[in-house]
Amino acid sequence: MTTSKEFSACVAHYDPNALPVTAAQDIVRQWAVPRTRNAQGERVGLVDALGRVLAEDVISPIDVPAFDNSAMDGYAFAGAELAGGATLDLAVAGTALAGKPFDAALHAGQCVRIMTGALIPPGCDTVVPQELVTREGDAIRFSTAAIRAGQNRRLSGEDLAQGKPALIAGRIVRASDLGLLASLGIGEVAVHKRLTVAFFSTGDELRSVGEPLSPGSLYDSNRYTLFAMLKRLNVETVDLGIVRDDRASLEKALREATERADVVISSGGVSVGDADFTRELMNSLGDVAFWKIAMRPGRPLAFGRLWSGERAGTGESALFFGLPGNPVAVMATFYFIVREALLAMSGATRQPLTAIRANSVEPMKKRAGRTEFQRGIATRDGDDGRWRVVTTGPQGSGVLSSMSEANCFIVLEHARGDIDAGDEVEIVPFDGLI
Ligand code: AMP
Ligand code: MG
Repeated sequence: MTTSKEFSACVAHYDPNALPVTAAQDIVRQWAVPRTRNAQGERVGLVDALGRVLAEDVISPIDVPAFDNSAMDGYAFAGAELAGGATLDLAVAGTALAGKPFDAALHAGQCVRIMTGALIPPGCDTVVPQELVTREGDAIRFSTAAIRAGQNRRLSGEDLAQGKPALIAGRIVRASDLGLLASLGIGEVAVHKRLTVAFFSTGDELRSVGEPLSPGSLYDSNRYTLFAMLKRLNVETVDLGIVRDDRASLEKALREATERADVVISSGGVSVGDADFTRELMNSLGDVAFWKIAMRPGRPLAFGRLWSGERAGTGESALFFGLPGNPVAVMATFYFIVREALLAMSGATRQPLTAIRANSVEPMKKRAGRTEFQRGIATRDGDDGRWRVVTTGPQGSGVLSSMSEANCFIVLEHARGDIDAGDEVEIVPFDGLI
């Protein structure tokens, strides 16, 4: 395991007052390794495997398809017959249906009426599609120029060969994978234990839904966005509620969270001013670095490891992300800093975010030296097949409605300056994220 000293050392290469997003991502990546207690894994039935991370390669126990079969509705025959001349006449000796093979021996000059998926009869290796033949009674005729020997036959093992890996450990099981596993006759797979993530909000001004608002107070929305984003990543969640801005409450919440979870996520309380008091506490509970990430929104962020015992290095440990309080910053830092760590700790192979190029419809102000994540609305209405993107308007990091209105993040890279109308920008679609 990486020790506290190593953590401090890997952070020390960077300026914590202007940490580039890519550097923060690199550091988090080094720290987010699958937890051994999750790797023990468990076996689950097929339907429960959806969205879980495979703990072992799935080796195909059979050839798929299990037998040579027809790719078309037509007539199966021996390809050698094609050498005869410009047209071929064959006599229909019988019928092969999916699930009802034709197994008699064929003589020269004979063929078998065959349907898609049916076993290719012995002695046959080619299927001529029915559209290419003229049939009269039990005889067919077709042009030999239209077909080559071996065509329209699906070979056994063509899809998956017996003994070969069908799905690789670290894969997040998708709809197609469930079908694939079923096609192999596999009813159970080994998956990683789900990661447990505890989260809470900090702030004396916060109220829970259902409580009345007093002057100066506001509803806690971060716990709901965090809950939703965590659900999408298929982790177990522990909601620790709202924690008051005092040392004792925060310490209690952090210890409890560290005992119960693999990862702890808080929001709020890491901006200048608050940071002094949390910094001192977190240093006593573990090894936590406070960063000012060169990103907007989401500048202040704390990251490190916490311990539940009396001293750092004792008791249970958990990775810790202290996210900023602003609702949009919470979502941006979650997707661009936290997400990858949770996936890696869940045992998943890297799942890069989908990024596509789009043309900005409008000019955008951008300061070089930080990565900006604007909320965008991307469309592809024109005839040229290109994506175009506009911002949702005011980009304040408290404007959560901008996230609901948007369908993508516009990612303006670190070194980039102002954007002119028409310039290409990178967008990360929310689809699948949010
Ligand atoms: P902080 O980082 O704690 O200074 O919070 C920054 C801003 O985000 C303040 O305006 C907070 O009121 C707001 N904020 C903090 N936590 C939450 C939350 N859980 N839900 C909604 N707004 C929040
Ligand atoms: Mg606060």
